Amino acid sequence: MKRVPVLEARHIVKELGQGDAKIRALKGVSLTLFPGEFTLLMGPSGSGKTTLLSILGCILSPTSGTLTVSGECATGRSAEELADLRRRHFGFIFQAYNLFPTLNALDNVKIALDVRGFGAAERRERAEAALRDVGLSHRLNSYPGTLSGGEKQRVAIARAIASSPSIVLADEPTSALDTENGHAIMALLAKLAKDENRTILAVTHDPRTIPYANRVIEIEDGRISGQKKSAEAPHNIAEHQTGSGRVKNNQRRKRHVHA
Ligand code: ADP
Ligand code: MG
Repeated sequence: MKRVPVLEARHIVKELGQGDAKIRALKGVSLTLFPGEFTLLMGPSGSGKTTLLSILGCILSPTSGTLTVSGECATGRSAEELADLRRRHFGFIFQAYNLFPTLNALDNVKIALDVRGFGAAERRERAEAALRDVGLSHRLNSYPGTLSGGEKQRVAIARAIASSPSIVLADEPTSALDTENGHAIMALLAKLAKDENRTILAVTHDPRTIPYANRVIEIEDGRISGQKKSAEAPHNIAEHQTGSGRVKNNQRRKRHVHA
């Protein structure tokens, strides 16, 4: 059966800065993402990962090249049209969680649904379901200041998935976390891709997270320098227990991605 891509980028070039300081952050990047795939984007600092994620997520427009999201052309669009594409197709997860400190976990997730036209009852239902999916049903009323880093990132993931976006983009979602929480977050993202057929692209520096992914894309100096595909569906390497947020089966993590 032919797989239908959810996102296609072709020959993306992005110039940033002005005059003498102008740099070409992306030098012709092409990539295709499919439903149910968990892809890692890896590369040195300054290689263009955040710029690429911003273009794929319709936050930035490319200088040249084309982007297609679920069959819709996303290049040459106005700011409002890009915002509409973002709302309809994407969820975003950031390194720094970006939660509102004055809102509890439930409201932090609900507020992301405000701009999406859901009614009050559905907002609450979706927010509760998303927090349940990330193992935080017992933390609905907790404020970010009382949550651990791993829990805060789970709230951020719940916020990103609550509107059921087809694509979730995560920029270094585990870099502020310790190893154990980092693994648990990666296992959770892998599970979301598999169980709900979402497309997930996560930037990471940590090679220990490779076993959780279906595919690894390497970027260097604004160009894709390598791609690895896993030899087998890797999601079963870590059975994620949503209740405690722990990853079981540590010993099986060693089997992993072969180029
Ligand atoms: P990464 O996320 O891989 O660390 P970035 O995409 O943030 O890399 O940056 C790629 C390159 O673009 C770097 O050289 C960075 O300094 C430069 N850059 C990023 N944002 C801007 C900007 N707003 N203006 C000028 N240069 C920028
Ligand atoms: Mg970056």
